[in-house]
Amino acid sequence: MIMQPPPTSRAWVEIDLAQLRRNFQLIRAGSASQQNRLRFVSVVKDDGYGHGAVEVARAAVEAGAVFLAVSNVAEALALREAGMESRILIFGERHEDELAICLEQNFTITSGKLEVLERFSQMAAVRKIVSPVHIKVDSGMSRYGVRWTEAMPLLASAARLPGVSLEGIMSHFAMSDEADKSFAQTQLSRFQNVLTEAEKAGIAFRYRHICNSGGFLDLQPAHYELVRLGILPLGVYPSKVCRRIPGIEPVMRIKARIASIKLLDKGDVVGYGMRYTAPGPTRVAVLPLGYGDGFPRVRNQGHVLIHGKKAPLIGGVSMDAITVDITSVPEAQAWDLATVLGRDGAEEISIHDIATLKNSVSYDAMVGWRSRLPRVYTGQ
Ligand SMILES: *Cc1c(COP(=O)(O)O)cnc(C)c1O
Repeated sequence: MIMQPPPTSRAWVEIDLAQLRRNFQLIRAGSASQQNRLRFVSVVKDDGYGHGAVEVARAAVEAGAVFLAVSNVAEALALREAGMESRILIFGERHEDELAICLEQNFTITSGKLEVLERFSQMAAVRKIVSPVHIKVDSGMSRYGVRWTEAMPLLASAARLPGVSLEGIMSHFAMSDEADKSFAQTQLSRFQNVLTEAEKAGIAFRYRHICNSGGFLDLQPAHYELVRLGILPLGVYPSKVCRRIPGIEPVMRIKARIASIKLLDKGDVVGYGMRYTAPGPTRVAVLPLGYGDGFPRVRNQGHVLIHGKKAPLIGGVSMDAITVDITSVPEAQAWDLATVLGRDGAEEISIHDIATLKNSVSYDAMVGWRSRLPRVYTGQ
């Protein structure tokens, strides 16, 4: 873990651990049921959405996370190898050959398939253990899980398996963070019906969970015993319209240093494909990061912040460089800092701005920064 960017760093991702801890605290404090403290899963898949899975996991555990969650066995093993002893949920389905390692490492599988649960149960029984599992119900996302209409027979069979205990039951919203909550409500009532039927059949679950960050913010009645939070603790809202929690701020910033400054005459062109022609004398800063670092491959679009001012990108983004117009930032000098993501004075470039450049969503923009950009951790 790097604490300070070396003075020669060309560009880096800064992760503010103090803000991360603050976000977790605000999320817990802001949950409506004060007497019933919020129980949450910290979702740290895809390297903690590009923030560092272990660093986010540590802050989450310190804030009281009941489980960590990832999407595959390799990610779960990486957490164990870093010394994380917490419960770990693995989303998605497991190949038969992955079940042994899940038992050995105490990973909690989430499955909607009876054959997987049966196999897991057999293997656990051989080891003379009973392994907790979470049953995944597909309530309308049509991805993982047993279809809500077919959940009861699976639950009835799974409840009789000697090597597993039905600790959890979960589902996942297809759209929880937009103003129109009608499909989320449909999914919630399908899920609730399964829960009610299960209860009638004498099958009880310690943890029922369906909420992601959007559901946590906007669907209080769907919290049950556990919510699964990925994006929100990182200080980014899943959509423009969901509820805001004052004080929550982004944890990730990206900085670069000006590697070179150029003076152009009217008519000079910039970059591959000659996508920009200077309309008059223009001062240009070259920043040594490009699409090879995950910067969106745009041309003549977007900006960075230098000395608190906007410097628009001109020309195309190269693998290793972007060029920005600093004609209106005369104080800028070589090796000065540029903010590629984050705040500088009154200005801010948000992850939503980067997502717009990519024609994508903030989730994609967050995970898109390549490992070539070192992660630097502040606020220990
Ligand atoms: C990624 C994921 C989450 C977290 O979603 P956020 O919107 O980032 O909070 C929750 N549940 C499942 C099943 C996921 O795959």
